[in-house]
Formats: sequence, C-alpha cells, structure tokens
Amino acid sequence: MVKQVLVKTKSKTEILDITQSVQRIVGESSVRSGICHIYVPHTTSAIMINENTDPNVGRDILKELNKVIPFDDNYGHTEGNSAAHIKSSVIGVSKAVIVEEGRLMLGTWQAVFFCEFDGPRERRVYVKVVAG
Ligand code: ZN
Repeated sequence: MVKQVLVKTKSKTEILDITQSVQRIVGESSVRSGICHIYVPHTTSAIMINENTDPNVGRDILKELNKVIPFDDNYGHTEGNSAAHIKSSVIGVSKAVIVEEGRLMLGTWQAVFFCEFDGPRERRVYVKVVAG
C-alpha cells in the first residue's frame, strides 16, 4: 500500500527534513528488509538525500541551485516557474533507500529532504515500502 507524507511549504524555495515521517511509515509497515521508495508527484519539487546536522548544507545547496538556475532567464515556459521545473529535474523526483530491520539504512549524517522550488504550496510525498 502507498502511504503519503503531506508537506506544507512556507517559502518559494525550501528544503524540509522528512526523514522521521518516512521512517514512521517504514516502521509501521510489515517490511523488515526491503526497499523504501520515496516519490513526489510534482513537477516543481524534488527528493534529496544529504546532511541534516548542519542546516547550512541545505542553505548552501539552495543558494547555489538558485545561482546556477536563476528564477528569470528569458525562459520559454510562460508560467514563470521554469527554474523550478529545471531544479526538480536536476535533483530528481524520487529516491530509493535500503531498509533493514525495519529501519532506513541512511548514513550517520544523511537525511531525506523534500525540496520545494515553487512554493509556498501544499505538497504530497508518496512512500512505498517493498519487501525483498
Ligand atoms: Zn510550470
């Protein structure tokens, strides 16, 4: 069964740590060993795995993404959110994490982040845990 994490973002671009919500879904599933798929059904957001200990890491990632992919750059897409579409494609809309003993096998410094690139909005993240 697919579970969902609902996310409410507050800024135009934002990175939110959703590790505990994803781990809760894994823990509540019957899967002790398998794969956890984390997927966003949106074209202007993404899923990222990186450090959560120093919040400057996320800030630096956003800062550099916003520099490399500027909000305005004579884009052809007339909705005004081309930068968000590009960032979503660069970071990617899904991640797969190995599950063992009912736990996400993340490294000590790793966390699962929802990346907002066209907020603020209400978003959803699909989480599917598969045994194997
Ligand atoms: Zn668009």
